[in-house]
Amino acid sequence: MTTLGTAESFKRDWLDGFVGAYGRTVRKVPGGYGVVGRQVPRSGKVAVVIGGGCGHYPAFAGLVGTGFADGAVVGDVFTSPSAEQVYRTARAADGGAGVLFSYGNYQGDVLHFGLAARRLAAEGIPSRTVLVTDDVASGPAGEPEHRRGVAGDFLVFKIAGAAAERGYDLDAVHAVTAKANARTRTFGVAFGGCTLPGAAEPLFSVGDGEMELGLGIHGEPGVRTVSRLDATALADALVNGLLPEIPAGDRRVVVLLNGLGRTKYEEMFVAYARIHERLAAEGLNPLHTEVGEFVTSLDMAGVSLTVLMLDDELAELYAAPCDTPGYRSGGAALEQVPVTSTVDESLTRPWGAAGEGIVDRALTAALASIEANEAELGRLDAVAADGDHGLGMTRGMRAAVGAARTAGAEDVPGALLAAGTAFADAAGGASGALYGVLLAETGAGLRSASTGSSGITAPVLADAVDGAVRAFVELGRAEVGDKTMLDAIEPFRAVLREQAGAGTGIAEAWRKAAARAARAADETAELLPAKGRAARLALRSRGHADPGATSFALLVAAIGEALSTCGLAGRRIQEG
Ligand code: ADP
Ligand code: MG
Repeated sequence: MTTLGTAESFKRDWLDGFVGAYGRTVRKVPGGYGVVGRQVPRSGKVAVVIGGGCGHYPAFAGLVGTGFADGAVVGDVFTSPSAEQVYRTARAADGGAGVLFSYGNYQGDVLHFGLAARRLAAEGIPSRTVLVTDDVASGPAGEPEHRRGVAGDFLVFKIAGAAAERGYDLDAVHAVTAKANARTRTFGVAFGGCTLPGAAEPLFSVGDGEMELGLGIHGEPGVRTVSRLDATALADALVNGLLPEIPAGDRRVVVLLNGLGRTKYEEMFVAYARIHERLAAEGLNPLHTEVGEFVTSLDMAGVSLTVLMLDDELAELYAAPCDTPGYRSGGAALEQVPVTSTVDESLTRPWGAAGEGIVDRALTAALASIEANEAELGRLDAVAADGDHGLGMTRGMRAAVGAARTAGAEDVPGALLAAGTAFADAAGGASGALYGVLLAETGAGLRSASTGSSGITAPVLADAVDGAVRAFVELGRAEVGDKTMLDAIEPFRAVLREQAGAGTGIAEAWRKAAARAARAADETAELLPAKGRAARLALRSRGHADPGATSFALLVAAIGEALSTCGLAGRRIQEG
């Protein structure tokens, strides 16, 4: 409606324009959707990597530059970037002192950044993460893990960038960034919804004469609708939303009044006059005040108020100079640190010679089963969530098959690692990251058992699957009974282990485990979801199986058939 872009190419098109305009400061990550600073990587400096979906400019790519972020990963509009893109951006930014990730607390981002962190660790690149949780309207005080990140992102990233610029090591950057997040709070108000590129209708609309209190930055409506307030009452609502969470003590603060995308700067100053008065009356002392657009939500009309409660260290870091396309402070020209290297060639190299191996065959069979059931998986996901599970699985499996095929027939661990990475990149969403980790970690487990494909026995495979499930749980944090794919995965793992211990051969052990997974997936119909998008509409899903558990059962059944029919009976891969 109001936007120039189209849904299909928005991310690519605006990124091209952005890098064209600010090529002096930033460059694109090769082959990826991310940007890093021109001077990056900088040897010996912790790399600060931020990111999230697009639609929030200047967050996140516009905050890349000296004294701020080293890199930003760019997802589709309001959608988390994939683990592959996070990985590529972090590799391009790493200067040998490790990577500090910081981003808003949203499940998709947590999973994909988590997956990338795991892959970096496997390559010897340490990373730490600070999730931004500033939005007081999104969860109770004292439960930051339930709060999302909104405009506070900007202040938290600024502190991380300044600390890294100053030469803090990775643990110290992490500690001060976590402290900044713990002392940052935001409360927002919307007057009008936003419209996705190419869409005819806004994501939500605010009634004439109304306002939404406690808005998100992804077109989520607010938590409470009130009748429209004048500037003074609006300012009071914002301040009152924050005051209960500002403890006594140091009164120095940074104040940020953030426009969501369609609010005039002058109007914000009108509101700020009253905010300033109220903060002064509370004895708060704004050392810095920022009024403008920092974390937007496409063309949403509205504002949010953020307060960062300072101490000596935070005050000094916030005042440090920085220079990015979206924000500059400190005046004096910043020292240019010499470039130590440019593109990491290993990121653009293809995956070895072509071939058709066991992984290829098994995944091809799995893909056929997923394609045949795509509509049903979508239907199950639509019962209480967003209906994309069938499409995501098909996209992911096609990419996984392609990657396994080019990995080489003899390298089973390599093919699984490549398949997992490709799956997560193509599928996106929560399940993309989670299946990605299952595939890749199974590969990693087999590789560390360092047997050739002919030496993969049932106990070796069971060990690798155990490790993969542990990694899966670490990443997704689901428990058995939460109504997720873990409810099919865990019984599968247990039966595989038990059969391997009893001396059963691989194909037979797998078949029995898959049969148990199929029953377990059906049984999820009676559970109530506690994780993922579906948790918000939990009751609706009773009587319907979990989509992820269902796709897992389909996958392992198809793989089981491929294992017993693909003519490997004479090879040791069949033996226990
Ligand atoms: P999204 O939720 O991002 O739209 P999908 O629709 O592709 O992703 O996948 C949904 C499935 O992912 C759920 O049915 C559930 O099985 C699984 N899932 C989501 N979050 C988790 C989690 N934290 N741990 C385990 N499984 C999860
Ligand atoms: Mg979904």
